[in-house]
Amino acid sequence: MGVRFASLGSGSKGNGTLIDDGNTCLLIDLGFTIKEAVRRLGRLDVSPADIDAILVTHEHADHIHGVAGFARKFSTPVYLTPGTYEAKTMGQLPELRKINCHSTFTVGSFEVTPVAVPHDAKEPCQYVLCSQGVSVGVLTDLGHITPHVQRSYQGCDALLLECNHDPVMLEQGPYPYPLKRRVGGDYGHLNNAQAAELLDVLDLVRLRHLVISHISEQNNQPDLAREAVKPQLSGWQGSLVLANQSEGFDWISLG
Ligand SMILES: [Zn+2]
Ligand SMILES: [Zn+2]
Repeated sequence: MGVRFASLGSGSKGNGTLIDDGNTCLLIDLGFTIKEAVRRLGRLDVSPADIDAILVTHEHADHIHGVAGFARKFSTPVYLTPGTYEAKTMGQLPELRKINCHSTFTVGSFEVTPVAVPHDAKEPCQYVLCSQGVSVGVLTDLGHITPHVQRSYQGCDALLLECNHDPVMLEQGPYPYPLKRRVGGDYGHLNNAQAAELLDVLDLVRLRHLVISHISEQNNQPDLAREAVKPQLSGWQGSLVLANQSEGFDWISLG
């Protein structure tokens, strides 16, 4: 059936990305309650028992809130860095796999490459997932683009890329000043222009799907994010999708 991916929701109130190759179905992060997760999975025709593992990126609630409870209820293995594990009290887990965020590992039929990112968490990482010669990059929750990030996301067939905020909206928006500093800082979130800069240095020849993700509901607008990346995509033939908080996005198939 080929590789496909979808989202349960994307943004500061909860995240969850599904990737499935017909053999193995992985969930990256779960920032929703169990009940809400089951409802959102149902919308994508996935039952909790179908999920072979949860890969966690970091300990912020919008990524980890539902992980331990879901894992216990449905006996799902959980993969995460030692730092993320230490940062969050998770209780007993049915199967805990601590990963080295500098080493590729396999989960079922996927080859998973964690990528360390600059973000204000204990040991955050993002992921590039490969199966059947196809690679999908997931890249949200980072304050700036490092050379390591530039190298790691070259040549993806699909990319979920954070366009968190518009700097002017963040500056003029309702967040208290320390939170504005945090979000806009080097260990916060990518703004629209930073996401565009990454696209500038990535080789997009293989890229078929770009999904703009983790868009702030307070400090960004979908159209601003779309406009920001437009110059980098001139001449590009792929599909551009915007993920949102309430629906995420529906299955995208890579054939
Ligand atoms: Zn987040
Ligand atoms: Zn975060």
